[in-house]
Amino acid sequence: MKLLDQLAQGLDDLQAQGLKRVRQVVQSPCGPQAWVDGQSRLNFSSNDYLGLANDPQVLAALQEGVSLYGAGSGASHLISGHSLAHAQLEDKLAELYSPHMPQASALSLCTGYMANLAVLSALTAGGEADIFSDALNHASIIDGARLSRAKVSVYPHLDVHALHAQLQASQAPIKLVVTDSVFSMDGHIAPLPELLRLCEEQGAWLVVDDAHGWGVLGQHGLGALEHFGLHSPHLVLMGTLGKAAGVAGAFVAAHATVIETLVQRARAYIYTTAAPPALAHALLTSLDIIIGDQGMALRAHLAEILRYWKEGAGNLFPVHDEATHSPGLMASTTPIQPLVVGDNQGVMRVSQALLHQGLWVIGIRTPTVPKGTARLRITFSAAHTHGDVGRLIQGLSSLSFTARSGLIPEPV
Ligand code: PMP
Repeated sequence: MKLLDQLAQGLDDLQAQGLKRVRQVVQSPCGPQAWVDGQSRLNFSSNDYLGLANDPQVLAALQEGVSLYGAGSGASHLISGHSLAHAQLEDKLAELYSPHMPQASALSLCTGYMANLAVLSALTAGGEADIFSDALNHASIIDGARLSRAKVSVYPHLDVHALHAQLQASQAPIKLVVTDSVFSMDGHIAPLPELLRLCEEQGAWLVVDDAHGWGVLGQHGLGALEHFGLHSPHLVLMGTLGKAAGVAGAFVAAHATVIETLVQRARAYIYTTAAPPALAHALLTSLDIIIGDQGMALRAHLAEILRYWKEGAGNLFPVHDEATHSPGLMASTTPIQPLVVGDNQGVMRVSQALLHQGLWVIGIRTPTVPKGTARLRITFSAAHTHGDVGRLIQGLSSLSFTARSGLIPEPV
């Protein structure tokens, strides 16, 4: 009974601090219009950046995948679960990344969380290693770094100078710098060309988590590496396939020796059942859409939606000041457009007030974001229309904003 009492106390504490999270049951496919708790909502809280989660071609491919391969893979990749669909997906990704790294190879994994655990633990297992991690990196990078036996140094967010000093002080023969490409709660883009230059100069490798850049950045949607035109043997790219690709899973692209090391050594890859092959089959279609004309048109529409949002929201709110934590819009050029409110309870009140208007915008609190910077994480998708964005702007304009207290919902 003692443990139950302790757990119940922990849950009460979360409630008292305004940090208790509640899951909401969605009864419709992922898309701008969500049906939740018997109510229709306009959804600004998914990572389905291109609207592919409910694209008819992707759905048809998924159904075809089920008829070709059945429901489950039946085993892990190294036993009997590695299907032709997984192999085709990896071959296609390897080909696409060959302009960005020599001897490019790719590996598909069940989730991005597992991919980060796999990369950070397997690449540092061979000897003394140091991992250098941006202060705002995703939880899966933090956990991957903890799981590895490497020494972990956290550098201030985007601070290439501080990282330089840390790298210079490191004597470890294996050095990995790891960063989100697009920071998931801020929308900032990491200065990857500077980071890569520094890594090459200091004998380090650059691991890029492109969860929120992949499919969105770059002319063909190949993400941050294409966006910046990066090429190096010292790059390891992790991309997720449950966000812009609209399905599930993740991949790592890197030099063939890195990928073979993951196959042989990464426990998060080896000791888990392979994802259903039908997902990999559907992803081949997503990939074709992303890199082709349709993908380009979707990204162009998304850019237009973002422009429209920024114009409208810019008239309502000031720009968030990172130094003083003042409420306002974060400076972001990506589909992640956070609006900083401030305290945990406040952001949930604002989110609730928007919900009364049928607008679904999730509030993000600590520990996901630093204390005092609780925010609405507004995300846009190519499936949104100008009318959808207009409704959001109108909904937000009905809230009061004061520089001191941030957003305050009108009493309902
Ligand atoms: N990295 C980042 C930056 C993410 O935002 C996420 C998902 N929120 C992940 C990794 C994990 O990816 P997945 O959801 O595929 O496990």
